[in-house]
Amino acid sequence: MDQVSIREVGLRDGLQSVATVMPTAAKQEWCDAEFAAGVTEIEVTSLVSPKLLPQFADADDMVRHGLSRPGLIVTALIPNARGAERGIALGVHKLNYVLSVSESHNRSNVRRSTSESVEDFRRIVALIKAQPPAARPKLVAGLATSFGCTFEGAVSEDRVRRLAVELAEAGADELLLADTVGFGNPVQVRRLFTKVQRDVGPMMVAAHFHDTRGLGIANVQAALDVGIRAFDASLAGLGGCPFAPGATGNVVTEDVAFLCEANGIPTGIDIDRLIDVRATLSRELPEVRLLGNLARAGLPKGFERTAA
Ligand code: ZN
Repeated sequence: MDQVSIREVGLRDGLQSVATVMPTAAKQEWCDAEFAAGVTEIEVTSLVSPKLLPQFADADDMVRHGLSRPGLIVTALIPNARGAERGIALGVHKLNYVLSVSESHNRSNVRRSTSESVEDFRRIVALIKAQPPAARPKLVAGLATSFGCTFEGAVSEDRVRRLAVELAEAGADELLLADTVGFGNPVQVRRLFTKVQRDVGPMMVAAHFHDTRGLGIANVQAALDVGIRAFDASLAGLGGCPFAPGATGNVVTEDVAFLCEANGIPTGIDIDRLIDVRATLSRELPEVRLLGNLARAGLPKGFERTAA
């Protein structure tokens, strides 16, 4: 059965660039309401040091809360092996390890070379394999700046492909190609996803787009066209980019769900219910501009969800 999986990343990628620390209870309300709307995978937090990002000081509570909801796949971002240790101890279902294809972006983000980050990834794989089977989380290898970098500009597709294959062979369960800074376009998206998917065979390759330059939703369609069926998205497009003030964030979860359903591919999401979840954001983050066209205009008259 053809279907698409949409992972909500607003609680992590979105909140990461919001200065206001959202109260834990509000984050949990957001998480529960999206799960109730049919979003079955949520990146609930980032397992970074709270000294670096106070927004995620409640990471352990967020994970525990997510795990108390049967049927929800709880994902957390990890910047390094320490984060992996924490994630394993907490029982996170899926760890999302991100490194940047661009050397300078990786250095600015995690103060290491990309190859040092690959070595770290190998240590995380070993750490997971050392656990009893029931305690092993799935491991995502996220390749940030796969479509371009604010420091370096264009990023070599061959380098993306080499890293994707290296991480897949090293033990990733899933790959994630990320357009971290919104440089990508649909032609590039079709080309790169086709090549990488061919390189890594049946392994799941997911897409993470930012709408920085207005091509986010077009890039989702381009990825759908070449068979990609897993997307990261953020409710109300929450987020941005620390290097580009005013830049918009991730593609909008509601709009992505609508696009997938309009393609006749079921998402399992009740879009009207999903739109209602935005009320939590407008209440808690009144200074943040909520994005998304669907929420403004509503579903087209007579629009029917694709049966799953
Ligand atoms: Zn992102």
